[in-house]
Amino acid sequence: MAADSDDGAVSAPAASDGGVCKTTKSGEELVVQVPVVDVQSDNFKEMWPSLLLAIKTASFVAVDTELSGLGDRKSLLNQCIEERYKSVCHAARTRSILSLGLACFKQQPDKGEHSYLAQVFNLTLLCMEEYVIEPKSVQFLVQHGFNFNRQYAQGIPYHKGNDKGDESQSQSVRTLFLELIRARRPLVLHNGLIDLVFLYQNFYAHLPESLGTFTADLCEMFPAGIYDTKYAAEFHARFVASYLEYVFRKCERENGKQRAAGSPHLTLEFCSYPTSMRAHIDYRCCMPPTTHRPHSTSICDNFSAYGWCPLGPQCPRSHDIDLIIDTDEAVVEDKRRRRRRREKRRRALLGLPGKQTSEENEDGPPMKQVCGDGLKAEEIEQEVAEDETRSQPGLEKGHKNDLEMGLKATRLETADVATSEAPGGQANPHPVAGDGLHRAGFDAFMTGFVMAYVGVSQGPQICSSGPWLPECHNKVYLSGKAVPLTVAKSQFSRSSKAHNQKMKLAWGSS
Ligand SMILES: [Zn+2]
Repeated sequence: MAADSDDGAVSAPAASDGGVCKTTKSGEELVVQVPVVDVQSDNFKEMWPSLLLAIKTASFVAVDTELSGLGDRKSLLNQCIEERYKSVCHAARTRSILSLGLACFKQQPDKGEHSYLAQVFNLTLLCMEEYVIEPKSVQFLVQHGFNFNRQYAQGIPYHKGNDKGDESQSQSVRTLFLELIRARRPLVLHNGLIDLVFLYQNFYAHLPESLGTFTADLCEMFPAGIYDTKYAAEFHARFVASYLEYVFRKCERENGKQRAAGSPHLTLEFCSYPTSMRAHIDYRCCMPPTTHRPHSTSICDNFSAYGWCPLGPQCPRSHDIDLIIDTDEAVVEDKRRRRRRREKRRRALLGLPGKQTSEENEDGPPMKQVCGDGLKAEEIEQEVAEDETRSQPGLEKGHKNDLEMGLKATRLETADVATSEAPGGQANPHPVAGDGLHRAGFDAFMTGFVMAYVGVSQGPQICSSGPWLPECHNKVYLSGKAVPLTVAKSQFSRSSKAHNQKMKLAWGSS
């Protein structure tokens, strides 16, 4: 495509002509290539002004982290949220952030209602204090192209916990995080609890003991709100799966349909970076071309449900997100038809008028079945029965979320499968060298894209007085729970002392 790595003179896909809005034959693809700017210690100072400008002018910022590990997976799923918070805190104190992805989305009202300029950065970091790194994580990262030599040679150094003296004038990742707070923009994450706890401990201050204090602090840190695309996908968009690659691709496809239909849709542009910066930019392809779809291959159930499969590239079944979404859409359509038929029959039997139950009446998000094809008659029976008696939706999802949390907890092991591995054992048509190093940046981009797409259905209101996307405002996804974590300051929880000092710093010296 436009960015041919052999040709040094080729400029980046130009933003002026719509840039990314090049389509393949299906007309569904919005994003073809995403420039991810790699920031490390040798260009951190050089990139500082553009980083700051991107953050300060953004309409919202999406963030993702890659971690050195998370410790005991089970305790991260504790049913008691306070206990769960303590476990994540323990992980954040003992582990570190290996890379930080920032995707700054700036609305361009002059170019259409839902037009954004997206700037994506991947910061390679190095925690200067001792931290635990889990052998399995290292193994996996190395297998996926993560270069630890580069990490140690070029990682931007940082320290955890509270500030050491006045750091507000330094150019560091911690100051960058403070600038993110100063920008007062909505913060967007995917399954964000772990990210938030790690960000706090690693770039901000020592974590408070209680979850109530933590959320009270977050409220003041991000007054424009915290948004979680996993929550949005499950409870708002009601997708049947909610891992990042799935949600991103689903939104991308839906957006393509809306564009084709002439309905409101999202359009994106990227900066045209100068040639001198090319060494630090990776053009990430979102998806392998759809023409390579192996229609004959059966879908891997694990990957389909969780975006992860223990067999990885060796799996004989398909991990192709498009094929998975095609199948899901067919299943949903089929279920809908069966449900309608069953409902009709039931009502006829009871002599009720022919009113149809609305799927919108369900409280919990729709979920795909891992075992079986989700079309068996008894499952439909069960579903109808549940519709009528359901009081606490989500409880039956325990198993699913256990597994997913286990996988999510090893984000670094799962995040990129969809793009780095070709389905059916074919070679990836667009291999990107050093993929493992740019995952946080690209994941942040996908996260931002999803939120921007969700925003399309809500109309343009970032600049208005109320919160952006009120239904998702300050709701953070909680695995295995039917309700999200609400980021709020209750009358019983006070903000922490360390946080109050940071706030003074943030607002006192800007
Ligand atoms: Zn598989």
